[in-house]
Amino acid sequence: MAYAVAVPPQVVLPIADSADTFPVRRIYCVGRNYAEHAREMGFDPDRELPFFFMKPADAIVPSGGTIAYQPKTTDFQYEMELVVAIGKRGRDIPVEKGMEHVFGYAAGIDMTRRDLQIAAREKGRPWDLGKGFDQSAPCSALVPAAGKTVEKGAIWLKLNGEFKQNSDLSKLIWSVPEIISYLSGYMELVPGDIIYSGTPEGVGPVVPGDVMTGGIEGIGDITIMVAK
Ligand code: MN
Repeated sequence: MAYAVAVPPQVVLPIADSADTFPVRRIYCVGRNYAEHAREMGFDPDRELPFFFMKPADAIVPSGGTIAYQPKTTDFQYEMELVVAIGKRGRDIPVEKGMEHVFGYAAGIDMTRRDLQIAAREKGRPWDLGKGFDQSAPCSALVPAAGKTVEKGAIWLKLNGEFKQNSDLSKLIWSVPEIISYLSGYMELVPGDIIYSGTPEGVGPVVPGDVMTGGIEGIGDITIMVAK
């Protein structure tokens, strides 16, 4: 027996200061997890329950990469986010055990075709074409958690050197262990899963030739170019 088409490559993330890599299985994303971002998108952030959407694993683009200005959009936007990598299998994980399932952290950008996302939202349709498209998940190298919690720390994104997003992880509405607990009630979390935890305010569009640089204090930096 042979495969009828070429086997797709396993998507991996580099691990800082290691020769090992992290194989990516699924990408989960949390919507509206900072109050000021919820407001800028026209919503009241009064602790509505978290909600999730997904991206395909092969949407990952490592730091230093160049992404295409994607087709079918005229409003291609960045969302800087803390990324959490799962290292231990579990379902119905209690909040107090959530951190035991964290392998590490990274700095990621949830690239969004905002015009398509909003059009889908208004019609009650899925967000896939606005969120889960090619090259939509730039991500830095992972930093092993080693028991480290991320309750605070600066998170920022600069466009062509100018600050566009500048917030703090302490403003996450749902914390990392709360996200893990809630999501694991719906899906078994498996080593290789990663979670984009939501973006602070200041999201906005890119144009061809732009350079995005972002970072999270104590975790890492990411640089992504938009092709001309
Ligand atoms: Mn997002």
